[in-house]
Amino acid sequence: MRVDILSLFPGMFEGPFGESMIKRAIDRGLVQLNIHNIRDFAHDKHRTVDDYPYGGGCGMVLKPEPLFEAVEAVRERVPGESFSVVLLSPQGRLFSHKVAKEISKHSNVILICGHYEGVDERVRAVITDEISIGDYVLTGGELAAMVVVDAVVRLLPGMLRSETAVQEESHARGLLEYPQYTRPQNYRGYEVPAILLSGNHQEISRWRGEQAFKRTRERRPDLLEKAVLWKDKEACE
Ligand code: SAM
Repeated sequence: MRVDILSLFPGMFEGPFGESMIKRAIDRGLVQLNIHNIRDFAHDKHRTVDDYPYGGGCGMVLKPEPLFEAVEAVRERVPGESFSVVLLSPQGRLFSHKVAKEISKHSNVILICGHYEGVDERVRAVITDEISIGDYVLTGGELAAMVVVDAVVRLLPGMLRSETAVQEESHARGLLEYPQYTRPQNYRGYEVPAILLSGNHQEISRWRGEQAFKRTRERRPDLLEKAVLWKDKEACE
């Protein structure tokens, strides 16, 4: 998968993309991440990328020309290939596991990070998708792009140990994940549930299913309507 990110602050990506799973995915060639400075597509000597909004009002708006040209330049590097061009925006459809899965199926993705008051409306002519990471407003699209890349890259084939592990995770099937424990068996009087030490995999699986359901009902009852209930679990193993 190739991901091209258009940003005014390319340096912001260095830390998050230089560590842990994303770095491993890059090193293993599972994803190619290219960060482009939108200012490189400005035409004047001040590398201006923003201007005052027509009609007045506070703040600045990202001009259309650098963004159109940046998208075209990326497309020209991979001629003939189809691209998903995503604008990060608080006005987009809400990001979720389902949307991450959808994006993970694309071979070429361009992520456009807005800033200031956002982008000139005409930029919507070059996008194929608009994504919000939540109902709040960030100062720029960079953190949103990192969230999208992180959630998408971990779904790429070869990233996680098994498809079953992904299926059992929170949100994969509309449920939250069951509680997890590791050693020691007793920590300050807090015991690991005996069932997990029993070695009876069928019973452990049943317990986990019940816990996932209980947890979802307590914390996120809104998810249950859409959930694929745990009794179907065997179908994904
Ligand atoms: N004036 C815009 C509005 O009210 O819709 C908000 C602009 S915001 C300050 C600047 C940029 O941050 C946006 O263009 C977008 O790229 C990014 N951004 C802000 N909130 C976001 C969110 N919830 N999800 C994704 N991107 C977001």
